[in-house]
Amino acid sequence: MDLCNLSVIRELMNDAGISFRKEFGQNFLINRMIPEDIADACADDANMMILEIGPGIGCLTQELALRYKKVVAVEIDKGLIPVLSRTMADYDNVTVINADIMEVDLPALIEEYAEGMPVAVCANLPYYITTPILMRLVESGVDFRAITVMIQKEVADRLVAKAGSSDYGAITAVLGYYGEAKKLFRVSAGCFTPMPKVDSAVVRIDLYREPKYAPKSERLMREVIRAAFEMRRKTLQNALSAKLGGYTKEEISSAILKVGKPSDVRGERLSTEDFCLLADALYEIKH
Ligand code: SAM
Repeated sequence: MDLCNLSVIRELMNDAGISFRKEFGQNFLINRMIPEDIADACADDANMMILEIGPGIGCLTQELALRYKKVVAVEIDKGLIPVLSRTMADYDNVTVINADIMEVDLPALIEEYAEGMPVAVCANLPYYITTPILMRLVESGVDFRAITVMIQKEVADRLVAKAGSSDYGAITAVLGYYGEAKKLFRVSAGCFTPMPKVDSAVVRIDLYREPKYAPKSERLMREVIRAAFEMRRKTLQNALSAKLGGYTKEEISSAILKVGKPSDVRGERLSTEDFCLLADALYEIKH
């Protein structure tokens, strides 16, 4: 069954008595080559489990099932579950779970299904919840080998931005702590039904197997990043003075100087490593 064929998609959805649900960010792929390319790119070893988020009617799921040992697909829309039972009937290595990925206990799910296999994440993510899902994945503590996602092109540009560029933001700095993001390819809006207003891109994040940075307080490092970007137009010193509780302006200024940055530097100039050093300098003031 060609699950990227528009007539097939319509027929499957009509038979199930469902229609596209905008609130779940449902834009399904209709270009066969895209799920093939994403499935090829998301892991380096066939002997792996892939966690898919939002399988829809299963166009990417089936490509994953053909390439990897096991696929666990978490879909929020219960109307799609009978469709997936039909489209995935021939793939005995696919398990579909009807759940919200934001509610799932990820370590427990991996423990239950992976049976010791390495795990990677693969998804054509719903636009409305891209950043929360990415943060949930990296903060879950699960040792994902890689996270490969199709997301809005502008968000992809942010994920791979270099410090100092206009696309660089809090999500870039925080994700940089967990792994390295690479943009793989761009996908035009015409490859989806219904057609979204924006183009997409596929990004692969390779998570560090060993932590690359070791801030004294991960929580403080994250708070510093959040505060730095909440007031982007201000200098880092002013942004942190306004948004980071518990430190005087002088303490913030001395911490910024201690990490070798000028006192009028803006937050967007700091790499993930710089933020870790800055958080350590602030930590040491209080400990
Ligand atoms: N994988 C399909 C494809 O590529 O054609 C569908 C991708 S569509 C952009 C996003 C999918 O994620 C939809 O099936 C939607 O119902 C599902 N979804 C949205 N929010 C979700 C959530 N919080 N947890 C799990 N699935 C979700």
